Amino acid sequence: MSIEKRRANLQNAKDKNWDIIVVGGGITGAGVAREAIRRGLSVLLLEQKDFAWGTSSRSSKMVHGGLRYLAMGDRKLTKESLLERERLLKEAPGLVERMGYYFLLPKSWKPWRLVMKILLASYDRIAGIRNHKICNIDELGQTFTSLARADISGAAYYTDAVTDDSRLVYRVLQEAEADGAALLNYCKVDSSRVLDNGLQSIEVVDERAKNTFCCTAKVIVNSTGAWADQLRQARIEEQRVRPLKGSHIVLKKGVLPIENAISCQHPEDKRSVFVFPWEGHSVIGTTDLDHDDSLDEEARISSEELDYLLAIVRHHFPAEAISVNDIVSTWSGVRPVIAGDKQFARAQEAEQNEKGKSKKKPSKERRDHAVWDNEGLISAAGGKLTTFRVMALDVLEKAAPYLEGWAFERDEAPVFRRVTQEADNALPLNGDQRDYLSACYGFRFKDFLSSAKSTELESLAEQKYCLAQLRWALREEWVEHLDDLLLRRTRLGLLLPNGAEQLFDACKLICQQELSWSDEHWSDELERYQAIWARSYSVPA
Ligand SMILES: Cc1cc2nc3c(=O)[nH]c(=O)nc-3n(C[C@H](O)[C@H](O)[C@H](O)COP(=O)(O)OP(=O)(O)OC[C@H]3O[C@@H](n4cnc5c(N)ncnc54)[C@H](O)[C@@H]3O)c2cc1C
Repeated sequence: MSIEKRRANLQNAKDKNWDIIVVGGGITGAGVAREAIRRGLSVLLLEQKDFAWGTSSRSSKMVHGGLRYLAMGDRKLTKESLLERERLLKEAPGLVERMGYYFLLPKSWKPWRLVMKILLASYDRIAGIRNHKICNIDELGQTFTSLARADISGAAYYTDAVTDDSRLVYRVLQEAEADGAALLNYCKVDSSRVLDNGLQSIEVVDERAKNTFCCTAKVIVNSTGAWADQLRQARIEEQRVRPLKGSHIVLKKGVLPIENAISCQHPEDKRSVFVFPWEGHSVIGTTDLDHDDSLDEEARISSEELDYLLAIVRHHFPAEAISVNDIVSTWSGVRPVIAGDKQFARAQEAEQNEKGKSKKKPSKERRDHAVWDNEGLISAAGGKLTTFRVMALDVLEKAAPYLEGWAFERDEAPVFRRVTQEADNALPLNGDQRDYLSACYGFRFKDFLSSAKSTELESLAEQKYCLAQLRWALREEWVEHLDDLLLRRTRLGLLLPNGAEQLFDACKLICQQELSWSDEHWSDELERYQAIWARSYSVPA
């Protein structure tokens, strides 16, 4: 975002009485902003760090129905997610892509084959597709040549989808902004209160200008994910979010190359962990643990989690002899899982401890979302990346009583505008590149092409990104820091060694050209980025 545009948004933020102020720029906040602005409400969205900085850039990137939820008997949640998955596949081709999943069947599970067959048939039927089968061990061996066969009898094959989670957030924000939503990152909401006239007032800290200002609205939407209790607690003393950490490791390009996801049982605790292809690399994850660290620090993988994730590939793919040296990066996210209120949870825990039982296992916690209204502070947490549209609609339904003269309607209008892929033969783009870039930029694809220099379309370091994308992000995509550019607008910092250090010179030049960074500013940004990368995205010692 240009300095002028940010300045205008800041001024507007202070001057205007908004219908809705959305706090939190992850997928939930982006979805609420998108659905609210489309329905004619005025919307301001504030994010304390970068858009998608929270969990929405650190998920397992799966747009899925959740076979597990169906197996647990939660048909409603599965149906909701499957219908959203199919909608996203249709609306955002290339950004959300169907992917094959192989669920390994241990030999000891023989009687379960029939159960899996019934489960998959039901999973597909709900989604309105037919794309599943049970594979025997030989078929499986052809797809995963280095898979250890000793304990496995075959696999249940089905399809779900995969995405780039932060780009999904930017596409949704881009839609909201195009319809008139004002977006500000690096603006933290410190407190909220109800004024005598019934309006909501919030205090905001602008990290960039290093000052504080107030804004007012009819409704505040608290879509701060794992942080949701912090804003709520000024109004009600209860804790509803149980933060659960999940970590992933990214293997170097060419190590354990796979084209489909595989769900493996961990040899120690029998949990299912995925090995899946993402951005041309293989990723292993996730763990699922209580997160007791401060939410002000970016979550990071522990060495125990690293060992746990490596153990799974060593067990199922021993011939690959994968070690720490094969890892290019890691990431960890914090899942805002809904639990009972704190007093209730404590009482329950004490009771369970008395009976000799332990706290509910993280992986057994429910994954659906909840929406609470505390005098016009509407909080939404839990849920999934996949179901952001449904969450947004539930939030707006709860907000409606505070928006006099406005009626909520639950419609099925698309989230994304149609993308037209007009041919521009002057640019040296092949079909795959065209599909990929149009998926990244949606209805702005044509603008991207007109601004791109043909010399900057070549792929960078054998990744699918190109210099023109860095330039576009700096001009158009609200970049404030180098980590915004390398960890979220692009994923180069996760895919290239040492946080993409081979591209630092190119980044310096382009940041200086587009954002007028001085040498000193560049050095500060580089130092900041390397510290963040070393702390939260590298391999722990
Ligand atoms: C390891 C892991 C794997 C997952 N895998 C999947 C998956 O494969 N598929 C799927 O569908 N879902 C998955 N999920 C769930 C999904 O990622 C989350 O449900 C979703 O990203 C939550 O989005 P959110 O917008 O609610 O929260 P966030 O993305 O965390 O956004 C909240 C934002 O609020 C901001 N914020 C906090 N406090 C303030 C404040 N005071 N002022 C301003 N801003 C503030 C934060 O900086 C943050 O950016 C996974 C989650 C985890 C942790």
